[in-house]
Amino acid sequence: MRGVVMHGAGDVRVEDLPMPTLQEPTDAIIRLAAACVCGSDLWPYRGADEIRRPRPMGHEYVGVVEEVGSAVSEVKVGDFVVGSFIASDNTCEICRSGYQSACVQRVGMTGSQAEYLPVPLADGTLVTTPGQPAAELVPSLLAASDVLGTGWFAAAAAQVAPGRTVAVVGDGAVGLLGVLAAREMGAERIIAFSRHADRQALAREFGATDIVTERGDEGAAVVKEMTGGLGAHSVIEAVGTQEAMLQAIASTRAGGHVGFVGVSHDVEIPGNLLFGSHVHLHGGPAPVRAYLPELIDLIWNRHIDPGKVFDLEVPLEDAAEAYRAMDERRAIKALLRV
Ligand SMILES: [Zn+2]
Ligand SMILES: [Zn+2]
Repeated sequence: MRGVVMHGAGDVRVEDLPMPTLQEPTDAIIRLAAACVCGSDLWPYRGADEIRRPRPMGHEYVGVVEEVGSAVSEVKVGDFVVGSFIASDNTCEICRSGYQSACVQRVGMTGSQAEYLPVPLADGTLVTTPGQPAAELVPSLLAASDVLGTGWFAAAAAQVAPGRTVAVVGDGAVGLLGVLAAREMGAERIIAFSRHADRQALAREFGATDIVTERGDEGAAVVKEMTGGLGAHSVIEAVGTQEAMLQAIASTRAGGHVGFVGVSHDVEIPGNLLFGSHVHLHGGPAPVRAYLPELIDLIWNRHIDPGKVFDLEVPLEDAAEAYRAMDERRAIKALLRV
């Protein structure tokens, strides 16, 4: 089968890889309906994460179950399924408390930018759709696998609720879908930080009421000004840099909440700043599995259309171009036709 392998910074190749086989009785193998590149794939692509050996890429996936192990009972061959970037049993105490991404048996997924993918803990990890989806629903279901689920968790962690003012740091796919999540959760005002016209337009379409182009302390000052000097109730941090995290904290009112989901790179929060902020911080790798049934339902009923974040579509063979386009910010998110 064909699949994407990263050999080093800026070096993405599509190669012949061995067909996956069942390793454990709890595994399933799925045939991908579509694949995509994640903003977090750009960290190693840009050299911010070291690549010591060639790495099969991709952790977002939707597709049809091809084969199941002898201990798999919930998921059947032929089912259309959505999973998340961390496989989980969905039965341990941590999973049952809604933190499947910290499951005691968790397995980080990689290798979904390919034709086939082995999925561990299939019964706990995979969620079956009500039937075979219409082609136009596939991008949205793929978005649920990570960027929508992550944006959703960020909004939940930031305690978004009716009547609240929300600010969103980061105009990548996760930030934009954080806007959508905030709208679905009833936020009254949603302020998106963005300097790019196309991303601003999509943010508005997803529910942003205001756009702020300033960033850093300047951006936070604008949010304070817009909120009577107080700051937002809920702030989503969807970048993962020091500047973004400090901007998020500075944009939050005393007693407010920051939901942070940008993969943290060298973020250090000064203790005196944290102590003086009176801000709640909650985040980390999103427990997407917890939200999948609800998100699939919203997509299936065509209530939300998160697939709009895919503004580039190329064949799997052209994955290198998909990475380049996202790296150069020519594309928000690239879909790979498998
Ligand atoms: Zn991702
Ligand atoms: Zn678990």
